[in-house]
Amino acid sequence: MNRTTLSDKKRRAIALFSGGLDSTLAIKLVKDQGIEVIALNIDIGFGSTKSKLEHMQSMCDQVGVELRTLDIRDQYLREILFNPKYGYGKNFNPCIDCHGNMFRIARELMEPWEADFLISGEVVGQRPMSQRRDALDLVTGLSETQELLLRPLSAKVLPPTLPECEGWVDREKLLGITGRNREVQLRMAEEIGLKDFEKPGGGCLLTDENFSKKLAEFIKYDNLEVEDIALLKCGRHLRLPDGAKLVIGRHREDNAMIDAAITPKYRKIRLLDATGPISAISANASRADKELAARLTATYGKTSPSKRYSVQVGEETFEVIPFESKEPAKKYFINL
Ligand code: SF4
Repeated sequence: MNRTTLSDKKRRAIALFSGGLDSTLAIKLVKDQGIEVIALNIDIGFGSTKSKLEHMQSMCDQVGVELRTLDIRDQYLREILFNPKYGYGKNFNPCIDCHGNMFRIARELMEPWEADFLISGEVVGQRPMSQRRDALDLVTGLSETQELLLRPLSAKVLPPTLPECEGWVDREKLLGITGRNREVQLRMAEEIGLKDFEKPGGGCLLTDENFSKKLAEFIKYDNLEVEDIALLKCGRHLRLPDGAKLVIGRHREDNAMIDAAITPKYRKIRLLDATGPISAISANASRADKELAARLTATYGKTSPSKRYSVQVGEETFEVIPFESKEPAKKYFINL
């Protein structure tokens, strides 16, 4: 007789997955115990690199699990970023609320995805804000995940969770890592032959001081919408005397990013008769700000202060002479 009993059922877990080493190892520890794991990456919009998806896929392929991504950028801006219950970390990072939100969303997916529990790569005491022991408890409370959330890297120093109590996973085969030292994780990565596990281009931009400054300045003038985020990630940012925002490309890649990030809120600026950066200026800029933006853009181009250049600003063309140096631009800088 071939009957599937409850205890025979293959258990499934949803892993909150950032693409980093810790979440990859957490998945591996649980997968090795015969649990089917779905790696869920939740996109809040502030990742710093476009090669991230490729990297995450490579990590999932190496540990043999499926990757699913979920775009919550809009919900994150509306409900979390500007009104976190537990405040911010060192910069614009509301990590406790952010984690709580992610776990709550993952919990809601448990039923449709037929998962039995959740896992995360959090390590007790690893990060100053979000991974202190009390912070982990706050995250659990915010997300109402309680005993459903297993943290395999620190499990042995945390109270047993449902999958451990039910015997779906063997607590003895989990770890009890605490603190910032990553020795155990690096050794484990080597043992399992994990390749290229360092995340390309850094992590969440909300923990970046310079990016946080730009964001704080932006919201003094405008409501942040999902479409605005891409432009915040590139270029030199300036605020002109009449209040327009100007973003000037720093190099070829920046120029391409600015070009792609221009929304109806902005107008593109480019030099018509010289090589130079691509800039973006607020669509509602005053004429004086547009002219200054054209002049500043020309100053950052391959130009001479003794010549006049044609600069296109949206549909208009300005004839400008570049500044003698980049010095006059500095007083408008939001970031360098
Ligand atoms: S670092 Fe960024 S993504 Fe991670 S919890 Fe903090 S705010 Fe959220």
